[in-house]
Amino acid sequence: MNKIPVTIIPGDGIGPAIVDAAQRVLDAVSADLEYEYVQVGKSALDAGHDSVLPDAALQSIERTRLVLKGPITTPSGQGYRSVNVSLRQHFDLYANVRPTLSMPGARSRYNGLDIITVRENQGGMYSGEGQVLSDDGQRAEALSVVTREQCERILRFAYELARAQGRRKVTVAHKANIMKTTSGLFLKTAREIAAQYDDIVTDEIIVDACAMKLVMYPETFDVIVTTNLFGDILSDLCAGLIGGLGLAPGANIGEDCAMFEAVHGSAPDIAGKGIANPTSVMLAAASLLEHLEEVDKAQRIRGAIRSTVADHDRVTPDLGGGGTTDSFTEAVLERL
Ligand code: NAD
Repeated sequence: MNKIPVTIIPGDGIGPAIVDAAQRVLDAVSADLEYEYVQVGKSALDAGHDSVLPDAALQSIERTRLVLKGPITTPSGQGYRSVNVSLRQHFDLYANVRPTLSMPGARSRYNGLDIITVRENQGGMYSGEGQVLSDDGQRAEALSVVTREQCERILRFAYELARAQGRRKVTVAHKANIMKTTSGLFLKTAREIAAQYDDIVTDEIIVDACAMKLVMYPETFDVIVTTNLFGDILSDLCAGLIGGLGLAPGANIGEDCAMFEAVHGSAPDIAGKGIANPTSVMLAAASLLEHLEEVDKAQRIRGAIRSTVADHDRVTPDLGGGGTTDSFTEAVLERL
């Protein structure tokens, strides 16, 4: 059988070490993948490219339409656009999917949570459109544009995901009471789409109340669907409920392209120390396999990680252990 080509972006800082750990896990379950390595972000500049998103990287993704990505450092204050935002827009990766599943043994305030945030990935305030600062620095502007097409496809995506995973409820988080045009269009569209999924309960909630309720009663949430900026914030909040960004993977999905990633940053404070926790990118690798309908292999990886964390076996310092990226990876590999 032909191997499936995947573009690998090792990324910056701790990225190469944790992506390497994830690949060891993919190899251990005999994933039929063929890797193409590209550099983006700071490592691309360091390698002599004149862009944080070199053509070679774009061309590889054009070919493979499938990416596993480590965290990227976007150099600040030098006019560089976020690589993450550019990739999402270039490949029309319109759905950002962030599952947060409690892990027994992880240090967290709650247990037994299983929440998926589905975030619209293209429009709204987060898109960075129309940013203007007046010459005297006294007035700043940004543009928030939301289209019906964006709303419709993200909402449909969330309901289809809920149905496919046998989930019971979709919570629509909005701010239509104040942002009457942008959030108003999202809510109006949500009501129309919800009417087509009468097997799933729909809950509408204003985003600030959603944040409070997530902290007070997180067990009442199942799938949350929302616009770009609100999704950015709520998905990190959800990761905090289960013990932090290090335990949560992310996926950016389009019609014919998908990118799976660690959701945390490049952690420059611990880069090179060998103590980065590879869980987020390993879980992203499992999601990539699930996307390829290799569900058994994906579940084996998730099970091995969960058992390693539950047994507190060679886990990294962020999980309260004295282990390293390598020792944690060995512990996961032994369970596969
Ligand atoms: P960060 O997520 O890199 O680090 C925040 C804290 O969490 C640090 O103390 C770090 O050591 C710790 N941490 C993060 N990941 C860890 C892991 N896997 N194991 C153990 N500890 C971990 O956030 P930051 O410091 O705000 O950002 C650093 C850089 O990363 C910036 O350049 C930022 O732009 C970039 N960033 C990239 C992405 C991405 O590519 N998806 C996301 C967020 C931030």
